Amino acid sequence: MKDATILRKTISKLAVSKKCQEKAQQLCNLRAEKKERKLEESKFAGIPASQIIEIESDDDEVVESHPNYMRNASSYNEIPEVPIYEPTAEEFANPLRLIEILNEKGFAKYGCVKIRPPKSWKPEFSFNPSNKKLNVREQLLSNLNEGKSFIENTNMYTLEEFKEMADNFAKNYEQKSPFKFKNSFRANEYEYWAMVEDPEFKKDSVTVEYAADLPSSKYGSGFPSSNSGHPFYLNNLSNSKDSLFQIITRKQEAISGISSPWMYSGMLFASFCWHVEDLYMYSTNYMHKGAAKTWYCIPGDYKEAFDNIIKEKFGVLFFKEPSLLYSIVLTMNPLELVKRKIPVYRTEQKAGELIITFPQVYHAGFSHGFNVSEAVNIAMPAWIPNAKQATSDYARDGSFKKCTFPYEWLIFENIRKINQLKFSREARDQLINAYKEMKDKELGNREKVMKCYDKVLVKPFNNPHIRYDYHTCSTCSNYTYLSFISCMTCKKAGCTHHITVCNCLNTKMVLNTRFTEKELTETFIEIEEDENTDDGDSEQ
Ligand SMILES: [Zn+2]
Ligand SMILES: [Zn+2]
Repeated sequence: MKDATILRKTISKLAVSKKCQEKAQQLCNLRAEKKERKLEESKFAGIPASQIIEIESDDDEVVESHPNYMRNASSYNEIPEVPIYEPTAEEFANPLRLIEILNEKGFAKYGCVKIRPPKSWKPEFSFNPSNKKLNVREQLLSNLNEGKSFIENTNMYTLEEFKEMADNFAKNYEQKSPFKFKNSFRANEYEYWAMVEDPEFKKDSVTVEYAADLPSSKYGSGFPSSNSGHPFYLNNLSNSKDSLFQIITRKQEAISGISSPWMYSGMLFASFCWHVEDLYMYSTNYMHKGAAKTWYCIPGDYKEAFDNIIKEKFGVLFFKEPSLLYSIVLTMNPLELVKRKIPVYRTEQKAGELIITFPQVYHAGFSHGFNVSEAVNIAMPAWIPNAKQATSDYARDGSFKKCTFPYEWLIFENIRKINQLKFSREARDQLINAYKEMKDKELGNREKVMKCYDKVLVKPFNNPHIRYDYHTCSTCSNYTYLSFISCMTCKKAGCTHHITVCNCLNTKMVLNTRFTEKELTETFIEIEEDENTDDGDSEQ
């Protein structure tokens, strides 16, 4: 199966290489002509020919455009770069506080920040899945703007075998465009998007493989696993001060890929398509080793604009498959977004660099060769408003997307143990306020339900400890963590936003509650009492 793929690729490569040679010859002629001209001009200007050198710059492509190609060689130069931040060792030792600093400095308006850790920070590369085989996705680049699912191959390669395959592919890859780039990142960037979208190149597009979403719980993390490790080891982040995942980690639990990292091993052109993080969480991605990854990101304020543009451009695809963006299989040239006045930023993340994405930020990109990276989400009290936004956006999209978990659950879990967890004063206040708001809203919703129907039977959950994902709303598919309403006749259930759950014209409903009003209120009073006896020094 693998041999057949290689053979197929080789044949298609041979077929295109002749065409490439012809193009290259044309290009050589053009280059020679241009050099001649330059020499002539310099003679005229009185500069000795020996002093004319080719300038190392992105703008110095010999041939700018080609009548048959969609993009000019320098088109991508117009996408501005993601800002880089170099934190002090002290700032870097408190990851969630660092994110606050980045917010205070206004970096959220770029969507992403690239972090260069202090020079002294050199985590030992510890990813060693030994003989565990990695699952890979096959990605035919020309399919990436057609929204086709990837073929998932399970247990394909050990890490060494994957590296060997990836290195061979990169070594034997022949550039298809005739443009000469001084910078190999720019050359790959042009090639990549050409194979994704340009009819002239699509037919010669290649298939690459990406070992993605590998749970660190199964394959191991790339960071040393120890509780005494640096706070920025991604496998320690969930236990950071101010993290809402501390409580989960304390219970020796994890939400895979969210509170515990996933590993990624890429090759040249291995792609991640446009997506936002679950529940609009922050994400952090560390490149352990290998070739760089090009990232594109859209500031969170433009999420809706992005949604509208991509749905307009790929209308037919969305008509067939409305959940397309949630499947993360569709990409789109960032220049199409730039053209439509959406700010896009780009960067190359190299080994040893971290990328942090802010809430609600669409991001996409591809690798430049074999690499190993690791990613995990971050949630802190300041993120709760983003979680609410995400939940209501998912509800609007109906059954396409379910929350990974209800944020109400995370608030409640944290509030119950607030005095045992590490929170700064500010984060603690934010969490308490979020709880108060959640409680007031919930009690308000219950009141609305009581008014809406003639007869409402209030009934506690059969099991108040039942997992958060047990009950969902039949209209919006969201979890109904705190309470839900169900019809006595047809048994359909809805969240407190979708209280007209059924068409029975039945006026007898059950309001099922996880916590009684007394429990919700008393929890709050307890915290307030703690607050008053507290000296404010909650593990600052
Ligand atoms: Zn609902
Ligand atoms: Zn009914």
